[in-house]
Amino acid sequence: MELKWFAGVCAAGALGLLTLSSDRAKVAANPAGSDEPAVLVGAGDIADCTDLSGAEATAKLLEQIAGTVMAVGDLAYPDGSKENLACYDKTWGRVKARTRPAPGNHEFHAAGARPYFDYFGAAAGPKGGYYSYELGTWHIVVLNSECKDIGGCDAGSREVRWLRADLAAHPAACTLAYWHKPLFSSGSAHGNDPEMRPLWQALYDANAEVIVNGHDHNYERFAPQNPDGGSDAARGIREFVVGTGGKNHRPMALSKPNSESQNADTFGVLKLTLQAGAYDWQFIPEAGKSFMDSGTGKCH
Ligand SMILES: [Zn+2]
Repeated sequence: MELKWFAGVCAAGALGLLTLSSDRAKVAANPAGSDEPAVLVGAGDIADCTDLSGAEATAKLLEQIAGTVMAVGDLAYPDGSKENLACYDKTWGRVKARTRPAPGNHEFHAAGARPYFDYFGAAAGPKGGYYSYELGTWHIVVLNSECKDIGGCDAGSREVRWLRADLAAHPAACTLAYWHKPLFSSGSAHGNDPEMRPLWQALYDANAEVIVNGHDHNYERFAPQNPDGGSDAARGIREFVVGTGGKNHRPMALSKPNSESQNADTFGVLKLTLQAGAYDWQFIPEAGKSFMDSGTGKCH
């Protein structure tokens, strides 16, 4: 695993501007199977009708970045209702046509997350809220961490059995998964969620590279780990927590092992550039903020 990363404030901020302006010239489409690098960009924990300023700040970033948008759960506070989703629509709705969402716990405040499925239609996948798609040369899996609403997330659950079958049917060189609740998090509000371990185990067994989550309202990046939280440079999965979509900020707690980057005062989006055999990550902050995190990883 080669790893280069830097988080300098001034230099990285300039890099962010350069990247944004060069993206503007690119076309949005990254058809499956293309050798062109594909872009996946987004965050979770997004729009609150009582204060949309954070969601507006991240929506402005997305408008400048071509690629597929990942909305990583808790899109519409407080209850994922039709009215709450109308507030989401005022901001991230501007990139809805290229958004592939994952549901969060707030979407399931509404029975069966029905307003969420009604709003996104086919883009949200089947009613279980988990599905997969191809992006460039990568296989992308979207999961539902609201286990109690879908019959559990244990090793024998319908979702984990679907995940294992999906990964077996798509033996791509590079695989990324995103869903709402992280297995590993140093966030003070939630922290680690061991209920997610069977999902992690299935992805680890299939040699997946990257997992993106939200739920804790901060940014965090971990070094590649195994599902038990052990450092694993050979086969480990790199996890990002990107609960920075605009809802609010919450402080970090004591750092969990292998946590390499943290920030709890900046809204922003994670941009992943997915190449054949490798990926670049870049946290892009809202206008006026300087926190950055970027680097490169290789597929297993
Ligand atoms: Zn949540």
